[in-house]
Amino acid sequence: MTITIALSKGRIFDETLPLLAAAGIVPAENPESSRKLIIGTNRSDVSLVIVRASDVPTYVQYGAADIGIAGKDVLIEHGGAGLYQPLDLNIARCRMCVAAPLGFDYANAVKQGARLRIATKYVLTARDHFAAKGVHVDLIKLYGSMELAPLVGLADAIVDLVSSGSTLKANNLIEVEEIMPISSRLVVNQAALKVKHDLLQPVIDAFKKAVK
Ligand code: ATP
Ligand code: MG
Repeated sequence: MTITIALSKGRIFDETLPLLAAAGIVPAENPESSRKLIIGTNRSDVSLVIVRASDVPTYVQYGAADIGIAGKDVLIEHGGAGLYQPLDLNIARCRMCVAAPLGFDYANAVKQGARLRIATKYVLTARDHFAAKGVHVDLIKLYGSMELAPLVGLADAIVDLVSSGSTLKANNLIEVEEIMPISSRLVVNQAALKVKHDLLQPVIDAFKKAVK
């Protein structure tokens, strides 16, 4: 029996390397420089698949990967069906927030009951956030570069991930409200956890120990 781990390139891969090492798993190649999408490891029974961050839950849900690592942002939008989420790995930390142009009086617009135009990749998160506040919004779905939307009149504000805030600052935007803290979680296919328990549980346990 073998196990497959779904990971995305970039910060999640980088921050997952020490966790993999703690489980005795060392990738045979660096996905940043390799064009391969299936990467072997030092263990013949463990392989990695490199997928887009927002696709990790889908690969694990359908059992194409047994486990994966995905941001809470991505898991909320996916919905989490078929996924066991045993562990917050505390990596790729940032926050989901509302950001608006420097001159926009967000607090007043919310208080006045104005209808806000919000551009975001995270439409479910944004919908729930504003619904809970009783703020009426028109949501505009984007796939990236959300910071541009308020600058060209596409939206009043955006819902996006922020860590240092330097991208917001470079585009004359400020964080006006934090929605929730975000970090990445381990996700496990529920059927695989039963069938491949002897292979998966030690990996989960090693991650758990490495996180503490
Ligand atoms: P793509 O670039 O392929 O469209 P993506 O933008 O979702 O995908 P990344 O930017 O690498 O991919 O983000 C992957 C995950 O890392 C996100 O789902 C989120 O959980 C986390 N993340 C995103 N931005 C930051 C940030 N600024 N700081 C820390 N973690 C972040
Ligand atoms: Mg990105």
